[in-house]
Amino acid sequence: MDDVIVVGAGPTGLTAAIELARRGVAVRVLDGLDGPHRGSRGKGMQPRTLELLDQLGVTDRLVSLGSFGLPFRQHAADGTTRDVDRSPDLVGTPDDPTTPWRTSLIVPQWRTEQVLRERLAEEGVEVSYGARVASLGQDDGGVEVVLDDGRRLRSAWLIGADGGSSTVRRELGVGFLGETDDEIRLLLGDAEIDGLDRDHWHMWAADRPLVGAGARMVALCPLPATPLWQVQIGSTDPSRHATPALLTEIIEGLGPRIHVRRVDVTSDWRLNVRMVDDYRVGRVLLAGDAAHVHSPAGGMGMNTGIADAVNLGWKLAAVVHGADPALLDTYTAERLPVAAHVLGLSNDLLGSQFWSRTDEQVHDTRGLATTYRTTPAVGNEPVAGDRAPDAPLRDGSTLFRRRRDADWTVLAFGGAVAGPADLPGGTVQVLDADALAADGTLREAYGAVDGTVVVIRPDGYLWSRSAAVSA
Ligand SMILES: Cc1cc2nc3c(=O)[nH]c(=O)nc-3n(C[C@H](O)[C@H](O)[C@H](O)COP(=O)(O)OP(=O)(O)OC[C@H]3O[C@@H](n4cnc5c(N)ncnc54)[C@H](O)[C@@H]3O)c2cc1C
Repeated sequence: MDDVIVVGAGPTGLTAAIELARRGVAVRVLDGLDGPHRGSRGKGMQPRTLELLDQLGVTDRLVSLGSFGLPFRQHAADGTTRDVDRSPDLVGTPDDPTTPWRTSLIVPQWRTEQVLRERLAEEGVEVSYGARVASLGQDDGGVEVVLDDGRRLRSAWLIGADGGSSTVRRELGVGFLGETDDEIRLLLGDAEIDGLDRDHWHMWAADRPLVGAGARMVALCPLPATPLWQVQIGSTDPSRHATPALLTEIIEGLGPRIHVRRVDVTSDWRLNVRMVDDYRVGRVLLAGDAAHVHSPAGGMGMNTGIADAVNLGWKLAAVVHGADPALLDTYTAERLPVAAHVLGLSNDLLGSQFWSRTDEQVHDTRGLATTYRTTPAVGNEPVAGDRAPDAPLRDGSTLFRRRRDADWTVLAFGGAVAGPADLPGGTVQVLDADALAADGTLREAYGAVDGTVVVIRPDGYLWSRSAAVSA
C-alpha cells in the first residue's frame, strides 16, 4: 500500500508528489490521459510561484526555458498599434534582494509539467498514465480507488488534483459552489504563425464582432523556446468551436501578412467560477482546479494550484511520518481564503484590458502578498503566517538557496540560542543569522534585534518570530 495516491498529473498533482517524495513518502501518481497534456494553458508563472518552486530546485530550469516581461502590443481596428509594458513600473526596487523575481515568467504549462515530471523522476517516481479513477471509498485505515479498467489501488491518504471536473470531488460528494456562464467563452489553441514579431504579446479587441462571427478579442502570445503561439479568441457564440480551420480563418483575418502554418492543439473554454467549502474529507484532500476554478484573467489558476500543493505537501509528509493529523486542518484554513480571494480578483479582471489594470491588481496577481497570518501585523515586520523574504548571504548564496538544505530554517540573531520547540516533523537547520548575512538585509527584512529567533516553515512562511530567546 502506498502512503499517498495523487490523482492527476497536472502542475498541482506533480508539485504535491515532488513535495511528498522528496520527504521520503511513498507516492503514486495516476492520470487518466494516455500521456502528458499538450496545451499551453497556464503560461504565466507568478513571482511567488517561482519562489515556491525554487525550493524544489526547478525554478532555474523554468527560467532558462521562459521569458520575463513580455510587453503587450495593442492593435486597433484602423491598423495602428500601441505598445504597453506593465513590467518596469511594477517590479519594485530593481535590486531588492528580498524578492528575487518580481514579474511573471511566460512558459507554456506543458513545459512546466515536463520540468516537474523530470524532477519527480529524480525522486524515483514516474506518472502512471492511462490510469483513470472511476470511484473511491475510504475507511479508518485508508482510501481505495477503482480505476476504470477495474484495477483497485489502496493508500493511506489521497490527493485529488484531477482538475475542474474532478472525479475525486464528485465521489466525496463535496459541492462545487458558484456559477457557469456559457456566454463567456474562449476558443483556444497553440499554433505556428508567421508575420508577427515574437517580442510582443499581440492583442486585438473591439466592442463589435471583430473577425469571424462572435469573435471579439484575439490574443496571440509567443511561447518561449518553442515555434508556437498561444491563441485565445474571445467568443460569445456558443455554436462556434475551436477547430484548426476556424482558428486559421480568424487569425489570418487579422492582417494580410499574418499566416498560420500549423495549429497544434485546440480546445474550448467557458466560464466557470466555483470552489469547494472544504479541502479535506477524512483521508482525502483536494487541491488545484479540483478545489477552485475561475477565468484565466490574471493568470492565477495554475499558480494557486501549485501553492496549494506546496502548502499541503510538507504537512501531509509530516502526518505520514507520525505528526498529529490535525495539522491537515490548517490546509483548508490557510488555502480556502486564498482561493476565495483569487476568484474575486479574477472576476474583477475579467473583461478588463491587460493594460488598464491597476498597479494594485497586477501586484495582487503576483502572489507575493499572500499571507496565512492570523494576527494583525505591527509595523512592517513580518509576523507568523507572512512570506519569509530572501536575503544575500556572505558566501555568495542566498537565504532561499540555503533553505533548501532542510525543511525548517531557524534564524538566530545576535547570539540567540534557538531551541525550535514542537515543530511537527521534518528536518531542521539552525543558522547563526549574523554570521551568515552578507549585509544588513537579513536583519532588516525580518525586523530582527539581538535575541530575535525566526522560524521559517517548509513552505517559506513564518512559523514564529520571537523578539528574544535566552539560553
Ligand atoms: C487559456 C488558459 C490560460 C490559462 N492561463 C493561466 C495562467 O497564465 N496562469 C495560471 O496560473 N493559470 C492559467 N490557467 C489555468 C490553469 O491552466 C489551470 O488552473 C491548471 O491547469 C490547474 O492545474 P491542476 O493540476 O489543478 O489541474 P489540471 O491541469 O486540470 O490537471 C488535472 C489532471 O487530472 C487528470 N484527471 C482528471 N480526471 C482524472 C481521473 N478521474 N483519474 C485520473 N486522472 C484524472 C487530467 O488528465 C489532468 O492531467 C489558464 C487556463 C486556460 C484555459
